[in-house]
Amino acid sequence: MGSPHSNFITAPESLDSKHFNHLNPEDLRTKAHKAVDFIADYYKHIESYPVGSQAQPGYLKNRLPETPPDTPESFDTILKDVQNDLIPGITHFLSPNFYGYFPASVSSAAFIGEILCTGFNANGFKWVGSPAVTELEMVVMDWLGVMLKLPKSFMFSGSGGGVVHSTTSEAILSTVVAARDHVLNEIGIENIDKLVVYGSDQTHSTYNKACKIAGIHPCNIRSIPTSVEDEFALKPDSLRNVIEADVEEGRVPLFLCVTVGTTSTTAVDPVKDLAEVANKYNIWVHVDGAYGGNACICPEYRPFLDGIEKVDSLSLSPHKWLLCYAECCCLWVKNPNLIVNALGTNPEYLKNEHSESGSVVSYMDWQVGTSRRFRPLRLWFVLRSYGVANLQNHIRSDVQMAITFERLVKSDVRFEIVVPRRFSLVCFRLKQLNGFDSSCTESLNKKLLERVNSTGRVYLTHTVVAGIYLLRFVVGATLTEERHVIKAWEVIKEMVNTIVNEF
Ligand SMILES: *Cc1c(COP(=O)(O)O)cnc(C)c1O
Repeated sequence: MGSPHSNFITAPESLDSKHFNHLNPEDLRTKAHKAVDFIADYYKHIESYPVGSQAQPGYLKNRLPETPPDTPESFDTILKDVQNDLIPGITHFLSPNFYGYFPASVSSAAFIGEILCTGFNANGFKWVGSPAVTELEMVVMDWLGVMLKLPKSFMFSGSGGGVVHSTTSEAILSTVVAARDHVLNEIGIENIDKLVVYGSDQTHSTYNKACKIAGIHPCNIRSIPTSVEDEFALKPDSLRNVIEADVEEGRVPLFLCVTVGTTSTTAVDPVKDLAEVANKYNIWVHVDGAYGGNACICPEYRPFLDGIEKVDSLSLSPHKWLLCYAECCCLWVKNPNLIVNALGTNPEYLKNEHSESGSVVSYMDWQVGTSRRFRPLRLWFVLRSYGVANLQNHIRSDVQMAITFERLVKSDVRFEIVVPRRFSLVCFRLKQLNGFDSSCTESLNKKLLERVNSTGRVYLTHTVVAGIYLLRFVVGATLTEERHVIKAWEVIKEMVNTIVNEF
């Protein structure tokens, strides 16, 4: 039955809805083929653009009209404007010359998965919404769990389970909320301000955000100092001391975020030793392996996850190193019920026989939103199109290229490696020159970064750890080959020559 008012609404002649066949299959076919051609050509010619966008703030406002068109514009015109107006405002994360942040890891396989995901627009809020969405997600999470040699306690085939979130931020938020409610059930909601959460000063800023959203008092978010001597890993003794002080003062330890591969320098916190400390206080332990965790599909990196059976949850993002396109963050939890207890809702309009019987997973109860896309499709296409061995080789090949870059840096006496390389990130800087102080060295390195990025031929980013300003060079863009890495080093050397002459 339509709404009682629908009889009164008639479309004006010029907007006859029949004129607009919103989803004409032949029209879609033509345009989608053109769009795929457009992106394929973009990838083919991606090196012809400056890697970092050279746009100034507000650049787009001056190029686009202030109001939307009253009448339809042609597809070709719109696509032309993508080329002329949008591409200049894009920093090309997929360029082989992109070495900033953590790169975007993509593949044709995931691209196809994304097309299908969008195409179906299936909604997996609950199993009944589209059984394949829920069940494929469960299969894929267990597959990746097997690849990581996770204990059964994290798998659907055991007593746990996994979910594909869009970002680490959401993964961490859901676990903090689960831990919070579990503890508040015992000690009473009025004690929320006693809850304390722990991480190191290298923990990603999103942890802080998640804890604040979860209602943890900002004064109770501990950021425990690390040092260059410990390669920026969190020391179990430091953790114990901070926890003991909190307990002594009547606070309640709640949550610990352990990082495998920190964002600044890819430091690895010792999972097993930290979990052992935390377990004594019944603290929920989460391992954030957003980037570094992906490498643990290779036996040589798996030791970084030793002790994983002692933690409560683990997340990593295949969009950072396993070729999946953004956004794809995988979270495993030992006790999914705690997440569901915290985030579950059961409105009448979504009730159905299967969910009521408890025989199926309702992923809407694992996340903030209700609707959910066919998220596991990209990962499923990647895992099947590559096979485990090729994904391992993919990680190793990036690391090998990072080693090449590291060697080049080491071969030049003007430079130093600031933190030992663990994965495919090289942290380096121009050394302090005789007669220059540390702030001069910082300026010199800042200038170098600016110069290098302004060439448009390479793109790097920076960080500051223990007061040291350093340059980050991460190999991971899918199109990068060894020759690009060698060329990047040439660009960096050229730019050093120009700035040293100026100083
Ligand atoms: C990138 C990163 C994050 C943030 O991930 P999002 O998916 O963008 O929320 C969190 N932790 C670490 C260690 C990261 O490298």
